[in-house]
Amino acid sequence: MRTVEEHASIVSALLRPTPVIEVPLREAVGLVLAEDLRAGLDLPPFRNSAMDGYAVRAVDLTGFPIELPVSQDIPAGRKDVTDLTPGTAARIMTGAPLPDNADTIVQVEKTDGGEHVVVISDAPPAGIHIRTRGEDITVGTVALPAGTVVGATQIGVAAALGRATLRVRRPLHVLILSTGTELVAPGQDLEPGQIYESNSAMLAAAVEEAGGSASVAHFVTDDVTEFNSALAAVDADLIITSGGVSAGAYEVVKDALTGQGVEFAKVAMQPGMPQGAGHVGQIPIVTLPGNPVSSYVSFEVFLRPAVRAAMGLPNITRPALRLPLATALDSPPGKRQFRRGTVDTQLGTVAPWGGPGSHLLAWLAGADAIIVVPEATTRLESGELVEVWVLD
Ligand code: AMP
Ligand code: MG
Repeated sequence: MRTVEEHASIVSALLRPTPVIEVPLREAVGLVLAEDLRAGLDLPPFRNSAMDGYAVRAVDLTGFPIELPVSQDIPAGRKDVTDLTPGTAARIMTGAPLPDNADTIVQVEKTDGGEHVVVISDAPPAGIHIRTRGEDITVGTVALPAGTVVGATQIGVAAALGRATLRVRRPLHVLILSTGTELVAPGQDLEPGQIYESNSAMLAAAVEEAGGSASVAHFVTDDVTEFNSALAAVDADLIITSGGVSAGAYEVVKDALTGQGVEFAKVAMQPGMPQGAGHVGQIPIVTLPGNPVSSYVSFEVFLRPAVRAAMGLPNITRPALRLPLATALDSPPGKRQFRRGTVDTQLGTVAPWGGPGSHLLAWLAGADAIIVVPEATTRLESGELVEVWVLD
């Protein structure tokens, strides 16, 4: 049997870093910057007022209250601001450019708000309420280093710096293909012996939660010809299949791809023992077992880290903690067990959530953690420390 680490490195080695693309700003959300974003201008780009009020020269403010003629009106966006006539004030709005020789802003609340003559009640500290040029960032400085994950605030600064596009690593395109003659699409009627197909929607969502982009091919029956023709026209960075890789008969994925560039192996883990990885033509493929919990756990263990790494995303593994168990659990010898769990953040403990069965999808959906029990461990008592991966 392969170890979990052996299979994980086989899966990771299938994927190359995704290419760098230039995208409109808003399409960069969730992607990784592939360039240092350097400021092409100072921010703020010019000296401006931080308040609605009056721009003055501090030397003109003596004896309060003081009355000054208003010599200019400067709304935001004004392009033809002239020097302040000594002994006067310019009415000015937030973000408007300061006259060169003004050095202080009197906020409007400290005045009578006059339009032609203004009465100032109080002496503001000299130099106050002015945003200096380049105070936030100076031209030529790196605002965001390559490798930054682009989110709302990074989009904000890029736009403020005048960038309409960004160079990022493009999402990994993953195609999901489920197999199983018993499968029916959600929304249709079930006949005896049939079940709803749940893995492709779940795995596609998992790919997207990991940062990639997913498309779902219509699932196929356990028929090798049908399976092969579903794969024939595929274009993707990675194919993930579900089902048809165990030890029984009618294992369509195994039957179709054994000796065709895909290696099937047993991995020393529970759930998720039957696994496969390789290429179909030039396209990397990872074949997951069909049991829903096996499929999902396999994705967490092997694919989430590989997808994130290929996109240059950080935190390729889930945050891991060591927590005391709230209740005892048993684990099979020689296999790494990945149990569904719930973390009690008040008590700082973790408890198994549902049994180990790999069909217990509702329990999986209620879990917020994966408990990782080492291969050599067959029982852990309540209170013993265990590794926990925190989901979300
Ligand atoms: P397999 O890996 O194909 O032997 O399937 C193992 C178990 O998972 C069987 O009970 C299947 O019915 C179930 N199963 C396989 N594929 C899916 C799927 N796409 N959605 C829901 N259940 C599935
Ligand atoms: Mg099957």
